[in-house]
Amino acid sequence: MRTAVSNVIDLLFPRFCLLCGSAVFEEYEKFLCLGCFSDLPLSMHSDPLENPMSKTLWGRCEFIMAQSLLNYQRHSIYADLFKEIKYRGRKDLAFYMGSLLGRKMKHELKQLHGSVLMPVPLARRKFWMRGYNQAEIIANGIAKSTGIPINRNQLTRSVHRKSQTEKSRVERWLNIQSVYRCSKLPERVKNVILVDDVMTTGATIESCVRALNEENNVGITILTLGFTQKA
Ligand SMILES: [Zn+2]
Repeated sequence: MRTAVSNVIDLLFPRFCLLCGSAVFEEYEKFLCLGCFSDLPLSMHSDPLENPMSKTLWGRCEFIMAQSLLNYQRHSIYADLFKEIKYRGRKDLAFYMGSLLGRKMKHELKQLHGSVLMPVPLARRKFWMRGYNQAEIIANGIAKSTGIPINRNQLTRSVHRKSQTEKSRVERWLNIQSVYRCSKLPERVKNVILVDDVMTTGATIESCVRALNEENNVGITILTLGFTQKA
């Protein structure tokens, strides 16, 4: 219920919907107005075993399930949400969306025993510039709504000598296939849930799965906030 205090706070510090910019007043309208929230391209009813995202990875790496919270087009307004998370420091939005994803997948994730969440690591330079790894904040949100612990240290990313943008497409693919490493996981870990912000081509995910499989025999599930197909 709204109180006089929250009315005053809204007057002094008005909040605006991240997508349409209209003022938001209700408690439940955290980042988006109700209209924009209900229009989100949620992949709520898609099958985690068979959906456009999992099909992108078929034949490339072995996994149990792959699911994203949103399926959206690259140039749609929803891409703005990911820009907020990546470039404008909206850790609170990353956490909130992570907790939504966790809630959506709670039932499926419960079937996995001995599971840990593993955020896809960020290049060190990017981490320094941004000050946080958005995948880790998303994993924190998932952990909050599922109670699954996070393993932050064992999947690592090596340092790049040459910028990715200076390379050809093939060079970039070969390069991304060798940047991740994962050491031997504790015996109790039977399932790894890889977490990232957005999946597009799946090259990063594919590389992480390979790295995990090198020294481990675990089931792998992939969760992202967004899936966007290249046009
Ligand atoms: Zn709106």
